Amino acid sequence: MDLATTGTDIEKVIATHDQINQRLAEIARDVERDYEGRDLLLIGVLKGAVMTVADFARTLQRHVEMDWMAVSSYGSGTKSSGVVRILKDLDRDITNRHVLIVEDIVDTGLTLGWLKANLESRGAASVEILTMLRKPEAAKVDVDVKYVGFDIPTEFVVGYGLDFDEKYRNLDFIGVLAKHMYE
Ligand code: 5GP
Repeated sequence: MDLATTGTDIEKVIATHDQINQRLAEIARDVERDYEGRDLLLIGVLKGAVMTVADFARTLQRHVEMDWMAVSSYGSGTKSSGVVRILKDLDRDITNRHVLIVEDIVDTGLTLGWLKANLESRGAASVEILTMLRKPEAAKVDVDVKYVGFDIPTEFVVGYGLDFDEKYRNLDFIGVLAKHMYE
């Protein structure tokens, strides 16, 4: 779904589909270089990271495996709860694997900090993080994010996998949800 079709729901565009794809291609070149000679396992965090994993994996010029996890996050509100629960676990063992977690957005960093520690505790050879978006709050917590698509202001964004009450995930761009949609 494109911007014209969303009408007044979106107050500002953060990144167009072209900008997203260009940035993912840049990150892919970094990842190809950083993981040269090593197997790579992408772990996408459902559901928000689906679009990022799909586009990122397709621009990677190397073999890669994919697995998926689902953890609880916002529910239907717009504030992070800090409560992390595994809703869907990995299909395969990750002992000695080089893991790259792919996430949609880091806000407080609570979710990712917990996830990274959880995957490390399973004996992965390395665990790094790629996030499409990062909010300023994330800089305050001690979670090391290796690859960042875009740094954005503290606003509630939707699109390209990110939802509000399960809607807007299918926008082909990322935008700030207009306040009249949730206030
Ligand atoms: P954190 O634990 O870093 O505060 O929150 C991470 C999760 O909160 C993300 O995976 C995402 O599901 C949700 N989240 C944080 N900020 C936003 C936002 O601006 N828009 C949407 N749709 N979800 C967000």
